[in-house]
Amino acid sequence: MHGFTDYTLAKRAIIESLRRGGVGRLDVCDAHPELIRAARNIGDPIARPCPVCGHDSLRLVRYVYGDQLKELSGRPVYPKGWDTELAERVDEFRCFSVEVCLECEWNHLAACYLMGKRYAEKPPSLRSTGRRRRLG
Ligand SMILES: [Zn+2]
Repeated sequence: MHGFTDYTLAKRAIIESLRRGGVGRLDVCDAHPELIRAARNIGDPIARPCPVCGHDSLRLVRYVYGDQLKELSGRPVYPKGWDTELAERVDEFRCFSVEVCLECEWNHLAACYLMGKRYAEKPPSLRSTGRRRRLG
């Protein structure tokens, strides 16, 4: 995946800070009603408990952003596969995945990456035919 940024470390730091009392629960459990709604209706269940409340109520919602998306920028990815469809039409856009807890409203940016035509896999015929160099 291109331009992939994983925010797992940032998340751990926040959870750690929450446990130590550095930040309050209200500071991190502040999901926007719109985000909660999206998570409830179209979010993908995440198979692990919420790091804050421990409930099995985590959902992953993905959003697309980009100038080339025009009025579609900022929309959550729905239905499934819509982002892939967009990637076939649009040159470049950014995808943000956000984890949200329906129970305590914890929310955190999980990852962000680039999608679009320019990042599409090239057909095999266009790939370099040079021999692969052996490493080691
Ligand atoms: Zn929770």
